[in-house]
Amino acid sequence: MALDEFSVIREYFQGRVSSNVLGVGDDAARLPMPPNTQLVVCKDLLIEGRHFFADVNPATLGHKALAVNLSDLAAMGAKPVGCLLGLGLRQAQPQWLAGFSQGLLGLAERWECPLLGGDTVRVQHEIVISVTALGVLPVGEPGLLRSNARPGDDIWVSGYLGAAHIALLGLQGESGVSQDRLESVRRALETPQPRLLLGQALLGVARAAIDISDGLLQDLGHILKASGCRARLHYADIPLDPGLKGLPPALCATAALTGGDVYELCFTADASRRSDIVRIGERLNIPVTRIGVMQAGDGLEIVDAQGAAMNVGHSGFDHFRDLDD
Ligand code: ADP
Ligand code: MG
Repeated sequence: MALDEFSVIREYFQGRVSSNVLGVGDDAARLPMPPNTQLVVCKDLLIEGRHFFADVNPATLGHKALAVNLSDLAAMGAKPVGCLLGLGLRQAQPQWLAGFSQGLLGLAERWECPLLGGDTVRVQHEIVISVTALGVLPVGEPGLLRSNARPGDDIWVSGYLGAAHIALLGLQGESGVSQDRLESVRRALETPQPRLLLGQALLGVARAAIDISDGLLQDLGHILKASGCRARLHYADIPLDPGLKGLPPALCATAALTGGDVYELCFTADASRRSDIVRIGERLNIPVTRIGVMQAGDGLEIVDAQGAAMNVGHSGFDHFRDLDD
């Protein structure tokens, strides 16, 4: 590396931390836990060529590496307190490092989730980025577990669906996605905004939640399996991203139902909480839409506006099913 490992860390990853926190620079980090909290931890691994394009803007990459983890904390209802960064780089390019750290530290600052430490190594091939996010829940609060949904619960989703999938097609050179359209949808793919405030507000209101990283059907499927429930979704109620306007209906359905990398929350709640949830959405200025209902049994059914069953194929992206190496 042109820059040695220690100058890289000092130069780019020494973020600001409050005075009672020991961050980057010692053998391990130390931070006081807010009183009466329990730790919530998650980690994601991003590999060049599989999870991001080699030529992606490094600032959006830094943002996304942290955002996908904050989204997991959001889906638990947890509040972030810090993060760790594992980085495998072929070389230390100052421009790339400056962009990447700016993207990551900017989002970290926005959510008061300081970068506390990490590890940096040289790799031969693909860049590897792994962020660990630390969060807290009040003691005794189980969080928004996948296993907690019940028959009769409403199924909700935040935000709008489908944009990230169309952005991916556009970046892959799909001719049906114009440059204008790509510009209107790529933010959803590249700089997703984790729904942390929504997740925290849903504690004690919603029952189960998951963030939509692998597609609505697949991720809702995890709730169904963990909760031993069946789902009935109303396709006409699914909030399509405005950036999909004018695309063929079948493509919109694929994008909204099976497109991954969405980072909205899908959650279930008792029907008695409808007005609470609408109010939370209004207060936070986050769209929340009721898209279906949980039922006893297993499996998932999607019905059109006339109540007729719709046929949907592949239920989302599965790294093992689609494994190519
Ligand atoms: P060690 O040899 O004990 O693993 P390192 O020399 O790897 O220590 O790291 C020195 C300090 O820099 C530690 O505080 C570590 O947490 C921090 N650090 C290393 N890499 C990163 C990184 N990519 N992002 C943030 N902090 C890092
Ligand atoms: Mg180390």
